[in-house]
Amino acid sequence: MKQCDVLIVGGGPAGSTCAWQLHRAGREVLILDKRLFPRDKVCAGWITPAVAEELQLDLADYERGRVLQRLTGFRTSLMGGPEVETRYPEAVSYGIRRREFDHYLLTRSGAQTLLGTPLESMRREGGQWIVNDAIRAPLVIGAGGHFCPVARRLGARPGAAEAAVLAKEIEFPMTPEQAAACPARADTPELFFCQDLRGYGWLLRKGNYLNIGLGRQDKRRLGSHLAAFVDMLARRGRIPAGLPDHFHGHAYLLYGETPRELLDDGVLLIGDAAGLAYAQSGEGIRPSVESALIAARLVHGLGGDYRRERLRPYVEELVARFGPRDRRHGPNVAALLPRSWMRALSARLIASRWFARHVVLDRWFLHRGQPPLWPQPQ
Ligand SMILES: Cc1cc2nc3c(=O)[nH]c(=O)nc-3n(C[C@H](O)[C@H](O)[C@H](O)COP(=O)(O)OP(=O)(O)OC[C@H]3O[C@@H](n4cnc5c(N)ncnc54)[C@H](O)[C@@H]3O)c2cc1C
Repeated sequence: MKQCDVLIVGGGPAGSTCAWQLHRAGREVLILDKRLFPRDKVCAGWITPAVAEELQLDLADYERGRVLQRLTGFRTSLMGGPEVETRYPEAVSYGIRRREFDHYLLTRSGAQTLLGTPLESMRREGGQWIVNDAIRAPLVIGAGGHFCPVARRLGARPGAAEAAVLAKEIEFPMTPEQAAACPARADTPELFFCQDLRGYGWLLRKGNYLNIGLGRQDKRRLGSHLAAFVDMLARRGRIPAGLPDHFHGHAYLLYGETPRELLDDGVLLIGDAAGLAYAQSGEGIRPSVESALIAARLVHGLGGDYRRERLRPYVEELVARFGPRDRRHGPNVAALLPRSWMRALSARLIASRWFARHVVLDRWFLHRGQPPLWPQPQ
């Protein structure tokens, strides 16, 4: 039986960040992941500078042999409507490939890894967890994404009662002919909001790769929304011919929409397993990293006593950072207005240069008003 101080289930950004911090603090950490790395992950793959700062990413080191696309502008529109271009004097985001990014963070974490091994069982024995009948740990951190088995153990029912975002995307290297025929600028991602504002599509060129996708907050007809979106891009000449025909899908929860139980004796959830993505943009990497940092700092200070009440400050810190965990019952002015009014209003707002810069981008997508979590010790 293998013994460790902390077992982290899932080696995505949440798991590897938490492992990185705990390993630096001298804990024996093991990351268990069902996949072998490097592995693909369904994601548009853009991160804000705050993420790079919180992770203390050495950008010069990172971009050696990896894609790091500096993004200095955005084109935004209501699907089919006029586009607004907003420019910034510096990089306000980076386009990365999750295959590279996640592998880099996992390797850098310094933690032991057990890859290609799914979590199959976990049981409590003498105040410890026994996982897969092979690993013993007093604390298990669930970082296995939306379908995390540790979250299920705490009662999550993905796909049933939860209101998830469903999204599909493709990412592929363009041939020289496709690259020449693609007018999308690598420093300027394009965002296309659905008419009902229940989701958006994106076109993101990073280096030689093109990433196209669409996510929506309702389960119905994602395929037809996606087909209409790709059709519109093709008609407008924004994408080259010969796209791969299979889009890959995934789901995740927005913070405040469907709160999950986050902890119990000797167990807590971080990242998508905890359902933390920003509600307006669906950005999930930053909240994953931040929840991992909050959890690691708390765990380090607990001296091995991981009873539920000792872990409780984790939830309080999440609320302090991200706001109330359940926003389903708050006032919804939009629901009181007739649909045609809402459509007309959203069309005007999204077409406004001021609204695009100050609300859609600075506030909803870039969170420029929210500084990085806290300076991490070097
Ligand atoms: C289409 C799409 C586009 C997105 N675009 C962006 C974006 O541009 N920017 C952004 O910030 N966010 C984006 N997101 C959200 C972002 O991808 C997630 O919030 C982020 O990946 C969460 O990180 P995580 O570490 O919590 O989970 P994940 O990245 O999902 O990692 C979970 C890990 O757990 C492992 N695992 C799962 N089950 C098991 C098991 N049973 N046993 C062992 N291991 C297991 C998996 O193999 C995986 O490696 C997007 C999401 C989607 C679906």
